Amino acid sequence: MRFRKNIIEMEAYTVPKKLPPVRLDKNESPFDVPLAIKKKVFEYFHDNPFNRYPEIDSLTLRSKIAEEKAIDPEQIFVSNGGDALIPEIISLFEGEQVVTFQPTFSMYGFYAMRYGLNVTDIDLDKNFSIPDSFIPDPEKMALVVICSPNNPTGNDMEESKIRKILDTGVPVLLDQAYVEFSEKNCLPLLEEYENLIILRTFSKAFGMSGLRIGYAITSKTIANHFRRAHAPFSMNIFSAKMALEMLKNKAIIQEKVAFIKRERDKLQEVLADLVPVKSSANFVLLKTDAYDFLFKRGIAVRNFSGKMDEYIRVTIGTEEENETVKRLIGEFESKHHTWIH
Ligand code: PMP
Repeated sequence: MRFRKNIIEMEAYTVPKKLPPVRLDKNESPFDVPLAIKKKVFEYFHDNPFNRYPEIDSLTLRSKIAEEKAIDPEQIFVSNGGDALIPEIISLFEGEQVVTFQPTFSMYGFYAMRYGLNVTDIDLDKNFSIPDSFIPDPEKMALVVICSPNNPTGNDMEESKIRKILDTGVPVLLDQAYVEFSEKNCLPLLEEYENLIILRTFSKAFGMSGLRIGYAITSKTIANHFRRAHAPFSMNIFSAKMALEMLKNKAIIQEKVAFIKRERDKLQEVLADLVPVKSSANFVLLKTDAYDFLFKRGIAVRNFSGKMDEYIRVTIGTEEENETVKRLIGEFESKHHTWIH
């Protein structure tokens, strides 16, 4: 038995197993799906069988997403979390390189390696923006991945820079997993650029991480090729129904998103001296070494290695959790540093 070289060189994606009770480490929503919606879906499945396959292409859910975005369902692909779509997208294009802007979500590099592609990591500039010096080479590059708002920095990438990359014709995956918390919706770009794929998820603003629902929206040209490579039956009937019901109740989500944005802005204000860049997501990057201090006090946040080892990423939680985070980080900083008076 021989394993492919690029698989041997990969490292399994892991997260710490033993976490304290307050989980502010995975950019999840603090809000569950409302019980009334859960009950409605449970009741629906009382009379609907599990022994049959779902729709092959999730047309009902795709049509609902398409309707609210006023686009053609043929331009939408749904799958088991946005994560499951990343390797499908990476596999579509000719070229030996996948470009990512660091620091960013690690799964782009992970899946590029799985396909044996070279990952070209470009450092974001000191403001965590795409560097002006970046010039894509559509001959070499299979895909340029832009995450906006970017995980873990939280900032939006400037539209002018996204356009500059798109103008070269290179395929662009624009990951907007956190777009609901931002003011910068990039969907209109799809009318202008046929080399664009936008990735979205129900895991963050919709509070449905456990159900694994993500979708990609793209041009008709890319969609015609994507369709050939897309896994059939990629969305289970339970998650699809839940997503459909949540889309019928969007006001609930808008309210939760507004709360999270308010809490994020308050946290950024109080801890302003530690915030390297303004977040447009449901988390905030902070320059502090309070990871262990928080962990010991029952709060899990995200820490990093390498160039980001001076930072932590804190997901916005409930009001009480956010208050505790502000208080504890303030306490930590006043003990270890002098910025708090
Ligand atoms: N993109 C980004 C930037 C993310 O942070 C995540 C989840 N952490 C995803 C995509 C994938 O989300 P999911 O698979 O839950 O849809």
